[in-house]
Amino acid sequence: MDIEIKVKISGPDGSAHTEKVATFSKGAETMGEIGLSISESKELLLKLQQKIVSAQCAAYCTTRTRCPCCERKLRVKARDEMRYRTVFGDVTVPSPRFYHCKCYDGPAKTFSPLTEILPDHVAPELLWLETKWASLVSFGVTADILKDVLPIDARLSPDTIRRHLGRVATRMETELAEERFSFIETNAVQRQQLLLPEGPITVGIDGGYVRSRAAGQSHFEVTVGKSIPTDRPSRYLGLVQSHDAKPKRRLHEVLKDQGWQENQPVTFMTDGGDTVINMALHMAPASEHILDWFHITMRLTVMQQYVKGLAHDNEEDAEKLARLLRQIKGFLWNGNLHDGQLVIEDLVMDLVDIETDYASINALRKTAAEFQTYVANNKDMIPNYAERRRYGERVSTGFAESTVNTVVGKRFGKKQQMRWSKQGAHLMLQTRTRTLDGTLRAKFEQWYPGLKPQEETPMAA
Ligand SMILES: [Zn+2]
Repeated sequence: MDIEIKVKISGPDGSAHTEKVATFSKGAETMGEIGLSISESKELLLKLQQKIVSAQCAAYCTTRTRCPCCERKLRVKARDEMRYRTVFGDVTVPSPRFYHCKCYDGPAKTFSPLTEILPDHVAPELLWLETKWASLVSFGVTADILKDVLPIDARLSPDTIRRHLGRVATRMETELAEERFSFIETNAVQRQQLLLPEGPITVGIDGGYVRSRAAGQSHFEVTVGKSIPTDRPSRYLGLVQSHDAKPKRRLHEVLKDQGWQENQPVTFMTDGGDTVINMALHMAPASEHILDWFHITMRLTVMQQYVKGLAHDNEEDAEKLARLLRQIKGFLWNGNLHDGQLVIEDLVMDLVDIETDYASINALRKTAAEFQTYVANNKDMIPNYAERRRYGERVSTGFAESTVNTVVGKRFGKKQQMRWSKQGAHLMLQTRTRTLDGTLRAKFEQWYPGLKPQEETPMAA
């Protein structure tokens, strides 16, 4: 059978015209023939987009053919063409250039209406799609996926997508206001007069490492955070400390976006590192700093794994060590540091005395000694987690995975050979965090009035 697809466009002046867009000859004998194919849909969408964009651009140019002051018809200087890159392919539209009227009092002699409405030759939605997917998977895979399902120009390269993502991230960066030591603007009396805030906000801040592209440097540190209000969706933030001049501003803006007010309590959960603690200092008047339970259990789990390995060689000692680890976990969970630290000391001493051929015994000894130091250094930040839990308060920002694994994770090639510049990683973190928490689309809708609102689901579990 033959299928003909027509489009009818009615202009703002009331004129209407119908045009043929495409014809398909299709059989109805086999499964593979049923329905529109991907290649047919691409052809159709591209031609449809060409007609729609042409009609819209022509309508806009029509509004600019007369002088806005004296209504005299403007002379045409040239009839150029403009290429506009969209989600449904690259389209080319006529782009006239007019002489300004004599009444016009500007430096330019001519102007082209289309550059007013399309200053950027890439459609916002294409920029959004490229940025979103390249924040999740590599630039190469992004280019392949888009070309597979959409009539995207075959020349779209991974490098173009990289440049576009950089442009989006840079625009977000330029919007960020100046850095400050503190953003608190109220005093204690004023805060008492503020309306009661919503529930508390928990902010997890964590550090991780990304492989460096710079010669003579293997890794550099990235800082990531997750802000979890009680009654609103979570937000992520990410930055490269040694590159970013505004880490506190970044955190402050996330809190502000979530409707935080200065009398609202904030619990900062960290791994105890100085950089992450400094970032959260002087951020909120009603704040507490505690060690994320995740970081304690993660270290205990590592030691439990070693002990399981030891059991093959020395069952009796392994059982004793396993019991000590369970005790430590119990004491720390209940905020009983005195007994917790005593048992950790027992653990370290027992490991020194143990006689075994177990290959990883030294790794276990080292991990236990480091854990002893870790707990000693952070003892002021270890609360009674059990009691917090009983009162329905958070003890961690994530149970299955740390924030740094979620944000840095696969995109930064933890297990691959992917290498990054500090600036490249920092910019990627800006678009990736917004993609993960589902706020990238909203940013585009704010930048481009008229962009059809579209619900965006957070990508991180
Ligand atoms: Zn005029």
